[in-house]
Amino acid sequence: MKSIGIFGGTFDPIHYGHLRTGFELLQALDLSEVRFMPSGEPPHRNKPRASAEQRLAMVQLATESQEGFTVDAREQQRTGPSYSVDTLRELRLENPDDSLCLIVGMDAFLGLPKWHQQRELLRLAHIIVAHRPGWKAPVDGPLGELLARHGSSSMQALSETTCDRIYIHEVTQLEISSTDIRELVAAGRDPRFLMPDSVRALIQTTGCYRGVE
Ligand code: ATP
Repeated sequence: MKSIGIFGGTFDPIHYGHLRTGFELLQALDLSEVRFMPSGEPPHRNKPRASAEQRLAMVQLATESQEGFTVDAREQQRTGPSYSVDTLRELRLENPDDSLCLIVGMDAFLGLPKWHQQRELLRLAHIIVAHRPGWKAPVDGPLGELLARHGSSSMQALSETTCDRIYIHEVTQLEISSTDIRELVAAGRDPRFLMPDSVRALIQTTGCYRGVE
């Protein structure tokens, strides 16, 4: 069975925090690919600053040299809000016998109870939670209960079944955020070494984060 990592995000812009996380999971969990999926219209947050095309272009530039990294723009091609559950339903139809592993940071995982049709997610895929600095796994409340029922301490479960498990994996903590990068660029400073140079160059030529946040 193949295990496919699905890494969704606004990627406004993509940075080394995302890339290192994807790379460590690709290697550690022996994923056949990590598929980066830039969102269209994110349902839980403000409109992105960069356009969908610019965010997609940045993701393509950032991932093109890494074998196993792929890009899937389907969420941008859909009209209306992009819900993970709709994406996972499509991917499940396309890959009926594969293990699908939705990759989320701990901050995103903590927001899971608010996701559209969140109960359906684990019937379609596993969830891999990448540990981010400063965030703790919940022990009580709805997420604590979800972890008690679906949590797995072994990564092997991800390649033995096609869906249903939640696995928390520690990744190298790089405290980089897209918000900080946008603010930095808007303040006229240089985001060098926070992202690949190709992404930085695109930010400079398009001027997509110039001006007030
Ligand atoms: P913003 O600051 O605009 O909220 P972000 O940097 O958190 O953006 P997103 O595109 O919202 O980036 O994140 C996509 C996914 O990547 C989420 O699951 C998020 O938890 C995860 N992620 C974001 N930054 C990091 C990081 N530094 N290390 C590991 N995972 C991250």
